Amino acid sequence: MLEKLNERVLLTDVEKREYQRVLDRVENICQKAEDLGVAILIDAEESWMQIAIDDIVDQMMAKHNKENVVVYNTYQLYRHDKLVQLKNDHRTALENGYMLGAKFVRGAYMDKERERAIQMGYPSPIHVDKSAVDLDYNEAIKYCVENYETIGSICASHNIQSNLYQAKLIEDLGINKTHPHLNFCQLYGMSDYITFNLSDAGFNVAKYVPYGPIKEVVPYLIRRAKENSSVTGEMGRELEYIHKEKKRRGI
Ligand SMILES: Cc1cc2nc3c(=O)[nH]c(=O)nc-3n(C[C@H](O)[C@H](O)[C@H](O)COP(=O)(O)OP(=O)(O)OC[C@H]3O[C@@H](n4cnc5c(N)ncnc54)[C@H](O)[C@@H]3O)c2cc1C
Repeated sequence: MLEKLNERVLLTDVEKREYQRVLDRVENICQKAEDLGVAILIDAEESWMQIAIDDIVDQMMAKHNKENVVVYNTYQLYRHDKLVQLKNDHRTALENGYMLGAKFVRGAYMDKERERAIQMGYPSPIHVDKSAVDLDYNEAIKYCVENYETIGSICASHNIQSNLYQAKLIEDLGINKTHPHLNFCQLYGMSDYITFNLSDAGFNVAKYVPYGPIKEVVPYLIRRAKENSSVTGEMGRELEYIHKEKKRRGI
């Protein structure tokens, strides 16, 4: 259904009712979050369903982000159109009297996106190389930190340079590092050395905990391990730190 909505294909009556149920459920979750004073972070998925997700999140932000930033959308900076969209979404939010919630990631479906683009003969939505992604990622951090009064942001990354960049920027600009609009986040079980050090230094940092029925969570984790080529990179990084530390301690 999300793919159909993405393509702006008309829904059948049954699908329209199903979509309304989706909207109602998302609205209930966002309202509950607002009542409890917590945030809702909505993940980004493959490009062929992302417009449909953005439509839903935009509606929720317009409704729930008036006083505080409750709802966050996710921007995948491996896509070459996302930095522009981030800035446009900020402008739209300001024009319509609400605040933007922006979690930024590099993106988890690079291989899948590129393969589909080749198979179906359209230009890949993914940047040509990693350095172009890193440039946009840094720019997203800078834009959000500089506009922190009207954007709630979350640097969701295991890249130590990205996390350091945001931390340093906050300190250099002399902004209160515990401001609720300035956040960091890593996945549970990964990059604790980043999370714990950020926490020690007094920044807002969280762990993303995948949870749910085993039959859904295990395939999710396996998909992540397969799809996300950076998982092996991250494991390599952590292993290297462990080896370094063992050597330092002489064990
Ligand atoms: C808390 C949290 C929440 C997340 N939520 C989402 C989500 O909602 N949606 C989602 O898609 N992902 C999500 N991710 C995963 C994220 O998109 C990245 O895949 C993962 O974090 C690795 O990127 P990095 O910044 O941590 O590390 P890095 O090692 O700096 O970056 C690796 C990433 O760079 C990009 N990259 C690598 N090589 C190339 C290349 N040759 N050309 C172009 N790009 C390249 C890829 O995106 C790759 O995953 C989340 C990650 C975290 C930590």
